[in-house]
Amino acid sequence: MEDSGYSILRNPGTNKGTAFTLEERKKYGLEGLLPDQIETMETQILRVNEQLDSFETPINKYIYLTALLDTNETLFFKTVISNPAKFLPLVYTPTVGEACQRLGHITRRPRGLFISIEQKDNIETILRNWPVKDVRFTVVSDGGRILGLGDLGICGMGIPIGKLVLYTSCAGVPPEYTLPIILDVGTNNETFLNDPLYPGLKRKRIGGQEFDEFIETFVVAINKVFPKICIQWEDFAGKDAIRILDRYHDKVCTFNDDMQGTAAIATAGIITASRFSGTPFNTQKILFLGAGAAAFGIADMLVYKFQKDGLDRKEALKHVWMFDVNGLLVKSRNDLADYQKPFAHESEPSDDFAKSILKIKPTAIIGVSTVGGAFNQQVIENMCAVNLRPLIFPYSNPTSHSECTAEQAYTWSKGKAIFASGSPFAPVTIEGQTFTSGQGNNVYIFPAIGLAIFATEANRVTNEIFVTAAEAVAEQVTEENFAKGLIYPLIDNIQEVSYNVAVKVAEKIFESGLAGIKKPTDIRTFIKNKMYEPKYR
Ligand code: NAD
Repeated sequence: MEDSGYSILRNPGTNKGTAFTLEERKKYGLEGLLPDQIETMETQILRVNEQLDSFETPINKYIYLTALLDTNETLFFKTVISNPAKFLPLVYTPTVGEACQRLGHITRRPRGLFISIEQKDNIETILRNWPVKDVRFTVVSDGGRILGLGDLGICGMGIPIGKLVLYTSCAGVPPEYTLPIILDVGTNNETFLNDPLYPGLKRKRIGGQEFDEFIETFVVAINKVFPKICIQWEDFAGKDAIRILDRYHDKVCTFNDDMQGTAAIATAGIITASRFSGTPFNTQKILFLGAGAAAFGIADMLVYKFQKDGLDRKEALKHVWMFDVNGLLVKSRNDLADYQKPFAHESEPSDDFAKSILKIKPTAIIGVSTVGGAFNQQVIENMCAVNLRPLIFPYSNPTSHSECTAEQAYTWSKGKAIFASGSPFAPVTIEGQTFTSGQGNNVYIFPAIGLAIFATEANRVTNEIFVTAAEAVAEQVTEENFAKGLIYPLIDNIQEVSYNVAVKVAEKIFESGLAGIKKPTDIRTFIKNKMYEPKYR
């Protein structure tokens, strides 16, 4: 039964459906199990698109595409890569948010590994139950804070699955080396606790020492079972995310995309804007609205980049200011968390963000406050009063939380704003000029870093790697892109962009002595040869 045609057909990794050749049908005993007509992958993609387009809602399209992934992996990836702008929003954000909320109801077939706190002493065995012995990449979540949707318990599994699909689709990380994992530590989501179809533990979340010990046991076990593993932490609640990264970043190969990927894409935006606006990066001054986890992550990376560009740390910190719910972060405030203190300056307190702009004269404002509309007309006009081309980055998600819309930024700045947002906005036309605004999407960063880590067998993921990725993304924005308003490359070119970023990151990994293999003579060819191509073999 193991190698029978029937089981080949039912294995998503080996299935080719109607594309099996005559010889293969004979060899594997597939005759009669398929219609006689032999089809090309192009014909199969035609059918996929027709079926997909017949579904009206994104969630039904998501369910259909997930079923395709479970049936014919090659066809799934070929389809996604054929039109990233169409398929990425269906396999990941925004659709994946609703998919996670309804995962207990829409799941057809479980995917990846589920490791619950009840199985704490059994983690190694669970990991060995996975059929692949050389897993290189895991995205792991505890569902603690899924996108902007809060605690979704193990229904957060949609995120590790979706993110790993992006690794393969956007950067060609071979899917057989990837493993989505959800840690079931309970949930505080009352709706789920009362839902008979919620598939996770019906208990409140564990915390404190019990949680940390569970994570420690997991990290030790996964590194033992898969010695070349890279762990990407995803959508843990803020404090857990910061603590876990802090504990493991210099002990194992690991990173947190919410923190470091976001920081890198924001940094890339400022590098691009610097390139085209004639304001050198190390003269930029950034004022954050919001001083939480996202602001901290971005600020930390900006300081790192300022230092790389020649400023000492003290000077670099002077270029980063923050404003939170209680006003400007100044030294005289006594309500600041430790991580906020380096960004508090010797200055008068202020609870007026617009006025602070006139005083501090930032070249960029980054909104990570979750307060929709906080970049009002006065804020944008004050940015224009102190800059020829102000950088306006409302990064809060979802769209309703965005500090301003693209239309507002372009209208109030009379087309002067260099704009990028966390949530996507449609192009805007003002006085005959059309602006296509950029979305600070981490997808330009983490799949490429994943490919470089996979190819080089890197043993650590450093800030330097993220800054290198940010620089490599920025470098690929053309003058033509920028003239249209874009500060990130076009999503249609995502595989090419990721490949170029991966080459630069791999070079950095070798240069930093973090690679697990000897440096090849031709890194471009080396990386190209490592990339997965969805074709029938
Ligand atoms: P957080 O809760 O840690 O921080 C929010 C901060 O905003 C706090 O410092 C708070 O004091 C401040 N704040 C709240 N109300 C305010 C007000 N009225 N005026 C000024 N400041 C105010 O949240 P976080 O994890 O830092 O995330 C913030 C936002 O950033 C979220 O909307 C999230 O979606 C977004 N984000 C976007 C991306 C991305 O686009 N790639 C990535 C990460 C986070």
